[in-house]
Amino acid sequence: MTPPRVAVVGTGVIGAMTTWQLARRGARVLAFDTYSPGHDRGASAGESRIFRTAYKEGSYYVPLLRRAGRLWRDLETTTSTALLTMCGGLTIGPADHPDVLAVRHCAEKHQLDHEVLDAPEARQRFPQHRFDDDDIAVLDPAAGVLRPEPAVQAALRAAARDGATLLPHHPVDAVEETGNGWRIISVGADFDADHLVLAPGPWARRLAPLRDLPVEIRRITACWFAARDPAAHQPDRLPVAIRRHRDAAFSCFPVLDGVSIKIVPHHLGWPVLDDPADLPRSAEPEFARAAADAVARLLPGVTPHPIRIGTFAEGFTPDGHALVGPLPGHHNATLLTGFSGHGFKLAPVFGEIGADLVLRGTTNHDIAALEPGRFST
Ligand SMILES: Cc1cc2nc3c(=O)[nH]c(=O)nc-3n(C[C@H](O)[C@H](O)[C@H](O)COP(=O)(O)OP(=O)(O)OC[C@H]3O[C@@H](n4cnc5c(N)ncnc54)[C@H](O)[C@@H]3O)c2cc1C
Repeated sequence: MTPPRVAVVGTGVIGAMTTWQLARRGARVLAFDTYSPGHDRGASAGESRIFRTAYKEGSYYVPLLRRAGRLWRDLETTTSTALLTMCGGLTIGPADHPDVLAVRHCAEKHQLDHEVLDAPEARQRFPQHRFDDDDIAVLDPAAGVLRPEPAVQAALRAAARDGATLLPHHPVDAVEETGNGWRIISVGADFDADHLVLAPGPWARRLAPLRDLPVEIRRITACWFAARDPAAHQPDRLPVAIRRHRDAAFSCFPVLDGVSIKIVPHHLGWPVLDDPADLPRSAEPEFARAAADAVARLLPGVTPHPIRIGTFAEGFTPDGHALVGPLPGHHNATLLTGFSGHGFKLAPVFGEIGADLVLRGTTNHDIAALEPGRFST
């Protein structure tokens, strides 16, 4: 049987992983992106991403996370590239904080290895953080830090080796359903495919069939702060962390550039944008000051002035879970978008799911909660 022709729109991490999985399973893939892979205008850039297994967003993700972890290792081996450093992950906050409770619940339900440290133990083990007396820290050893730009590059390199055609700087202007497939219109040319995969991240609503999707575009801002003792903040001594505090909330990443830790403030808001093109390239001074205040209070080993600020666009759904499955109302089209700030770690398994849906029309992974039509009345 002739392998199907598949067009993938978008090669952020989700489209890149889907392209890789499709190509390794023999599909003839054309992968379009407006920009170059690894670019910093969407959701898949900014030096680091958290991988974790005890999952506050829902314990039904655990099988997907385990599979994603194996596929990250597979991609590392296939491309001889280091992508995931298992430095462990901390969730820090008051014992009764909902996120702390959710992580513990998930770890207990799935019998995941984990440690619960009270404030004195946590201070001794992780002096890089300042703990309040009522804080606890839940340590998930099956957690670590991912490298987003090399990951996108690696997946596409592996895909190209397996025969995929990569088309960077090819914005898809329109997609049209034909009698037996799809026509993709990009830079004045038509491309025909049997199946369409839509992985456009925050740009989803720009494409006509996705215009009514409940995907809101939000700006997420990351700030880097110089560590006074960079060695004490490297991944071998500082796990990734999710910090919940009465005055602040952020994720925190160890030093990867030799100089600075990164935090992504959650408490300062992720403003809605009308279009990813409206993404400002830096943050307002008030934002920088507020991020610096949180760091001054909670991370005693860093200089509390951001030395680098990055802004990124991400697509959010109303319930904070992605839209993954056949595109409602159309044939031969698969949708993967709206990853709502936590899709990176799962990208390889979503790539596998995308390839399953294209090539088999179904998947053995449980994606019922991510059904794209769930918000339609
Ligand atoms: C700052 C930040 C921190 C995060 N932290 C974490 C974390 O620690 N752990 C975690 O798991 N997740 C995290 N996330 C979420 C995760 O990074 C995203 O869910 C994931 O990267 C989404 O990838 P994507 O491929 O859907 O989108 P994108 O990376 O935005 O890719 C979409 C691509 O589609 C292309 N495109 C769109 N429309 C078209 C078109 N018409 N024609 C051609 N190309 C098109 C775009 O150019 C883009 O390259 C974070 C996100 C952000 C922004």
